[in-house]
Amino acid sequence: MDRYAVFGHPIAHSKSPLIHSWFAEQTGQSLSYEAILAPKDGFAESWQAFVAAGGKGGNVTVPFKEQAFALASQLSDRARLAGAVNTLYIDNSGVLCGDNTDGLGLVADLRRLAVPLANANVLVLGAGGAARGVVGPLVAAGAARVHLANRTASKAEQIAALFPQQVSASGYQEIPVEPWHLVINATSSGLTAERPLLDQVHLKHALLAYDMLYGKDPTAFMTWCAEQHVRCADGLGMLVGQAAEAFAIWRGVKPAVEPVLARLRQELGL
Ligand code: NDP
Repeated sequence: MDRYAVFGHPIAHSKSPLIHSWFAEQTGQSLSYEAILAPKDGFAESWQAFVAAGGKGGNVTVPFKEQAFALASQLSDRARLAGAVNTLYIDNSGVLCGDNTDGLGLVADLRRLAVPLANANVLVLGAGGAARGVVGPLVAAGAARVHLANRTASKAEQIAALFPQQVSASGYQEIPVEPWHLVINATSSGLTAERPLLDQVHLKHALLAYDMLYGKDPTAFMTWCAEQHVRCADGLGMLVGQAAEAFAIWRGVKPAVEPVLARLRQELGL
């Protein structure tokens, strides 16, 4: 049976084994998918041991996405622009390939939520790995403009420099007052029950406020946006969406996201 795995540290919380087992069930594929706790300084060794034992492909999560990027011999354009790899596989010639499906997962989730992306003005909060990974796919999906705002403005400016035509950047205080149709929280502020210090003027035209984080309760950002009467969504659909893209890369068949997302919400109370 073909073996797949997700590598992270920590990893016990990962929903990926459940998601991929449901994808396999749905598409009639025979495979196994496990969670591997790699040592913080031993991702490459962990991956190599997995491949030596017959591993075919893997997902990579915090804190190994940059290390996976460095390990892969061949990178997709998406991975190169993201500067990070979340999906690894070995191609028919034995080459280790790295891709990044996070942005595709987000765009697919926004489409599921019926948010128009063509000609949209998108405000992305944060400039970590997640923000960098979604900018290219948002631009490719037709966004007229993407503005990155970050506490540390220089990090946002570095990402924007990769897309000089469509992407701008600033700190929170300097965000241009324009109609932002979609506001995406790509910061990890929700992990400490905080929210980015965004002025409410930027929510005035928002059709959706999206937080990449997910959990049993709405994040502080989602709660605040709901108080401003803005429709909100969490990042669980993005998680399932990026997994579906990885599954399609490995197996050549794309699973349906909706039933797995609904099952995950129901069974885990998310
Ligand atoms: P990083 O650690 O790379 O980046 C963290 C970012 O959050 C930085 O921009 C940082 O700003 C900012 N930040 C942290 N705390 C605060 C705060 N209190 N106020 C304002 N900004 C803050 O993380 P990632 O980019 O990898 O992940 C970001 C989030 O996205 C995480 O919550 C993660 O769980 C989620 N995610 C969800 C996915 C999904 O599938 N749903 C996929 C990937 C990520 P600064 O640079 O100034 O420090």
